[in-house]
Amino acid sequence: MKGLKTDFDAIVVGSGPGGATVAKDLTLKGKKVLILEWGDNDPKKGTFFSTVPRAFIPGKSVVMTKQALPVVRAITTGGSSVIFCGTAFAPPIDMFKSYGVDISVEAEEMKADVPMAPLPDELMNAGPRAFYESAGDLGYDVHKLNKFIYPSKCKTKCQLCMYGCPYGAKWDARHFVNQALENGARIITHAKVERVLIENKKAVGVEYKHNKEIYRAYAPKIIVAAGGIGSPLILRQSGIRSAGYDFFFDPLVFVYGKIKGLGNGKAIPMSSGVHFEEDGIVMTDFNLPRMMKIGFDLEILKLKQAFEYADVLPIMIKVKDELAGEVTNNGWVKKNLTKADKQKLDKGSEHAKRILINAGATDIYRSWKVAAHPGGTVKIGELLDTNLKTKFDNLYVCDCSVMPQEWGLPPTTSIIALGKRLAKHLLAADQVTQKKDPAVVAAEQTPIEESMEAPLATAVN
Ligand SMILES: Cc1cc2nc3c(=O)[nH]c(=O)nc-3n(C[C@H](O)[C@H](O)[C@H](O)COP(=O)(O)OP(=O)(O)OC[C@H]3O[C@@H](n4cnc5c(N)ncnc54)[C@H](O)[C@@H]3O)c2cc1C
Repeated sequence: MKGLKTDFDAIVVGSGPGGATVAKDLTLKGKKVLILEWGDNDPKKGTFFSTVPRAFIPGKSVVMTKQALPVVRAITTGGSSVIFCGTAFAPPIDMFKSYGVDISVEAEEMKADVPMAPLPDELMNAGPRAFYESAGDLGYDVHKLNKFIYPSKCKTKCQLCMYGCPYGAKWDARHFVNQALENGARIITHAKVERVLIENKKAVGVEYKHNKEIYRAYAPKIIVAAGGIGSPLILRQSGIRSAGYDFFFDPLVFVYGKIKGLGNGKAIPMSSGVHFEEDGIVMTDFNLPRMMKIGFDLEILKLKQAFEYADVLPIMIKVKDELAGEVTNNGWVKKNLTKADKQKLDKGSEHAKRILINAGATDIYRSWKVAAHPGGTVKIGELLDTNLKTKFDNLYVCDCSVMPQEWGLPPTTSIIALGKRLAKHLLAADQVTQKKDPAVVAAEQTPIEESMEAPLATAVN
């Protein structure tokens, strides 16, 4: 075993929206941060084949439930935001407040950090326009959605958001990681954290695998941000056994229709949508990259449809599923959709069908189910206090796993706001520590120094 003897102020595990936000905001205030990331940090090429190793490896980035429902995430620097659709739904401020967590200030402040506005009309291709107009025509409360997109860099008739935007047009958490690195943070990629080191009920460091060797790194603050599946596994290995139960994953389906003459099937997904808040259903346009559509069609043996693309209008139905299930110790998910979850998917699909028929679509069919927002596995109010601290001092969690209840929305704005709030809390707590009697501080830090391993790690990217 090798040790990484350092003077880091904090170790951030995982570099998705949660981890990247905390790392950026801490380094902005001069803190020294080590980011440990399981995935790569190779350039985004915007191709299907470069996305496969990040997002389509069974047992790693895709895990299947017993009902054959795939749950997808990306294992790479920037986390799932590298392949996300860049839709920025406003955080449910009142819901968080009801758990004692006020992110209203941070939700405003983040607007200075990320682009968040609807796409200009010229970036809405024929499919999304047809959805928007047909839904409006039928009286649905359809709105253009805010996007994490810099319009000046974005391309019309493009569908590469989910392959990792190669133009820098879609914001993803790598933007924050890069800012953190510019501010002096250090990242070790291909570093899979296995557990947090706890001494005297305090977190003092982490143990991780890198190039088949086990390393230890130490810092006075540990922030686990390995996502809805990754974080509970690390916590369980660290003595928080009840992490990873009763979670959501926001199941979704696509409903497709063929509209003669619609033209080019390439379009930025989720330009506009309808939120049926009381029903827990979100409905949006959703042009998929061609290879992904082929995959979804072949899954349900729609062989003819698999090769139809240009004239197809896909609509996504995403629902707020009931909390249930378990993340298994090997990182798979055990969770069955309930009757109520299935009814929501059916109800949403009926809305989509109406919109397609009204738009003149024929050959309407529905995809198999998939899920892309695993969360609620380390809930605020159960395993975390309102400052996202675990039962162990110095150990925090900040990612989609902290959501305190059922979800059903694109979560990234909320995760960023929580990350900003946590960074402020850590900085404020640090100031209090600095004002303490130096003898007390020294005594508190002794066990950490004593437990450091030698020799120093050298294999750092
Ligand atoms: C296809 C798709 C489309 C989506 N579209 C949207 C959208 O339009 N809008 C929206 O708001 N959300 C969207 N989401 C969801 C959004 O991307 C995620 O909710 C968000 O990225 C979660 O952030 P996170 O910080 O919780 O975790 P993640 O993004 O999952 O990041 C976790 C990080 O931890 C790393 N990691 C995991 N385990 C370990 C370990 N043991 N050691 C070290 N590192 C580890 C991972 O590699 C990853 O980098 C989408 C998701 C997908 C898959």
